[in-house]
Amino acid sequence: MKIQEADAKSLLVAQGLPVPPWEVAHTAVEARVAAERFLSEGAQQVVIKAQVLVGGRGKAGGVKLAGFAEQAELVAQSILDLEIKGIPVRKVLVGPAADIVQEVYLSAVLDRASRKILLMGSAEGGVEIEQVAAERPDAIVTIHADPLLGLQPYQAREMAFRLGLGAHLKDAVAIATGLVRTMRAYDADLVEINPLAIVNDIGVDGLVTQRLQCLDAKITLDDSALYRHPELEALRDPDEEDPADKEAREAGLTFIKLDGTIGCMVNGAGLAMTTMDLVKRAGGEPANFLDIGGGARADKVAEAMRLILADPKVNAILVNIFGGITRGDEVAKGLIEARAQQSRDVPMVVRIVGTNAAEAAILLEEAQFVTAATLDDAAAQAVAASKAGAA
Ligand code: GDP
Ligand code: MN
Repeated sequence: MKIQEADAKSLLVAQGLPVPPWEVAHTAVEARVAAERFLSEGAQQVVIKAQVLVGGRGKAGGVKLAGFAEQAELVAQSILDLEIKGIPVRKVLVGPAADIVQEVYLSAVLDRASRKILLMGSAEGGVEIEQVAAERPDAIVTIHADPLLGLQPYQAREMAFRLGLGAHLKDAVAIATGLVRTMRAYDADLVEINPLAIVNDIGVDGLVTQRLQCLDAKITLDDSALYRHPELEALRDPDEEDPADKEAREAGLTFIKLDGTIGCMVNGAGLAMTTMDLVKRAGGEPANFLDIGGGARADKVAEAMRLILADPKVNAILVNIFGGITRGDEVAKGLIEARAQQSRDVPMVVRIVGTNAAEAAILLEEAQFVTAATLDDAAAQAVAASKAGAA
């Protein structure tokens, strides 16, 4: 699960990392009010940033500065009118603009191959790290944290020196270890600060000092570990979630949309993979991966059918159920109910074996469903129906 910059920054603040203050505004007027506050508190300028779950907002015109409140309102409106990588901007972050001296990149990621948290840094911050990685991989510093001991202070110091942050050693070490701590505290896959910046700080005495601040924050949380952090569920941004993904999650279905034309409804992840393989072998392309889970009842089956049919490319459906805990007759009832409510008529081939398969066969025959005895046969029939539909 991706979370917005403002929410990611809240998590960093909770872990004691240095982040400039901010407010989230949903309208240009709200942005102006926030700007007035920061300007009255001594900020020379404010920064206004689109809150969308994609990177490269700066390049897309989604990060801008304003020197006075009315300008902040205009700038905020121009950003709220944007669509960045296809996503409409619904809110902006407003904060005091940092006076940046230098930008570096620092992140903690889960390195699955080594099963450790990997600290990644680059002195070339600000720009997209993927580009640095592709063009000059030697410009990226990587250090693995120990699974038991965490990131050791000497490792954090090494990272700090290699990023040219020697003059800010204490803060850099605190930030690096803080990133790894944040990863573990929230079961994150990624905690990325880009830019981590050396900024000028004008004291009340007028003296300029320099310090480190996290100016951007990107965190992705491990969906499979979210149950351990129920409070983080509130950070899910419903505005930016794909409607099909949301429906599937709420219905307790595992659904992944693909590019093909044959909708697949299967119980069990392994069987769903096999079904997709057989569809491909029979010359078709699956439109989705869908695992309705064990013990699915009629209403869940009907919900799954709605999800499949919501994809306009689907022109045939293959239902493959191996009844164990799942009862075949329950699935059959769900299919009959779903077809009665179905918005469009798509050919369906059903194969149900296992628990209550005989009862299912009777129900399906009465309702005049097309059934198949073997999976190969079912796949072949679904592919033929799809091709006939496309012709
Ligand atoms: P991203 O493009 O989505 O990664 O958004 P960022 O928050 O990283 O902003 C992009 C760039 O805008 C940064 O690399 C900075 O150069 C600049 N920027 C962001 N915040 C500030 C700020 O407070 N002051 C100044 N002067 N520039 C900023
Ligand atoms: Mn950034």
